Amino acid sequence: SRIASSRPLTALVHRDALAHNLRRVREAAPTARVLAVVKANAYGHGLITVARALVEADGFGVLGLDEAVRLREAGFAHPILLLEGPFAAEDLVEAARLGLAIVVHSEEQLSMLETTPLTRPLDVFLKVNTGMNRLGFAPEAFAAARARLLASQRVGRITCMTHFATADEPAGLGAQFARFRALIGATMPFSAANSAALLRYPETHGDWVRPGIMLYGASPFADVSAAALGLRPAMSLVSRIIAVQRLRRGDAVGYGASFVASDDMRVGIVACGYADGYPRHAGTGTPVLVAGQRSRTVGRVSMDMLCVDLTNLPDAGVGTPVTLWGQGLPVEEVAQAAGTISYELLTGRAERVPLVEA
Ligand code: PLP
Repeated sequence: SRIASSRPLTALVHRDALAHNLRRVREAAPTARVLAVVKANAYGHGLITVARALVEADGFGVLGLDEAVRLREAGFAHPILLLEGPFAAEDLVEAARLGLAIVVHSEEQLSMLETTPLTRPLDVFLKVNTGMNRLGFAPEAFAAARARLLASQRVGRITCMTHFATADEPAGLGAQFARFRALIGATMPFSAANSAALLRYPETHGDWVRPGIMLYGASPFADVSAAALGLRPAMSLVSRIIAVQRLRRGDAVGYGASFVASDDMRVGIVACGYADGYPRHAGTGTPVLVAGQRSRTVGRVSMDMLCVDLTNLPDAGVGTPVTLWGQGLPVEEVAQAAGTISYELLTGRAERVPLVEA
């Protein structure tokens, strides 16, 4: 039997926000099909919960077969794309059995596909490297790779694919999209846009857009807020104050005594630490909501706890709710204070923090 913990830390998943953000994707990319990127346990939000909330998407993008199996077992008949493609011949057999689409980005995968007997043909996203220099065929190798796919009995539909390195930055698409266009011409089906490109560069929409972060309600851009983009946070990490300390001027808080009170003050100890996925690099001053009011963390984040400033919060005490990020406090702000990105915080939620559908 499982004993539920009464520790107050939970990650609320806002299903209405997910559905809303999908509508924002549709508004921004009205002609493309939407491949909702749900890898990494749906960016930490829970694969099946998210897939249910995004059931109107046209397909799902996952990393591994395990995620695809879970979606199929939960009854999702959508197209599912394995974003890094098969790692071994057995994966191809299983992908065919499950009716998945695969990314083919390498010579090794191409030969695997040509030599593995399959029960039915697989749809293929042929990935070309246009400048990210991570996965994909070199532009010079693209035509030959495509010809081999076209010649194969094991291949169904072919969609050309690339991934942008700087769509979220001032550099924009750089030369990547022009390079891609030059290769694929005007008629080949394609997929290129992540959230940033989807929002800023409509010419990249093509046949399938591949939004991830915007579905979860965070902005892909450093200089535009999620709210300004019409997005709503899909996860709120919430907890409570479990203890209160009164500091005298000169008293320090936590490991390393890094924060020293310059005046008498109260601090709240919150049940949330780096073992929960809260970033240890969030130093004093990281924003936090206490009883819905903005405050800041003080001192170092511990494994299971962090401390918040209760100056200006005379009514706060043990049991007062605290939002670490989410509704009312964009995860991007916390990420920025910790020198990282929202993606890392969302995917880094620890397993011991229960997901609760809200
Ligand atoms: N497409 C591919 C190939 C990806 O790897 C990712 C995420 O890393 C995405 C799309 C979604 O990107 P974003 O979350 O920035 O929208």
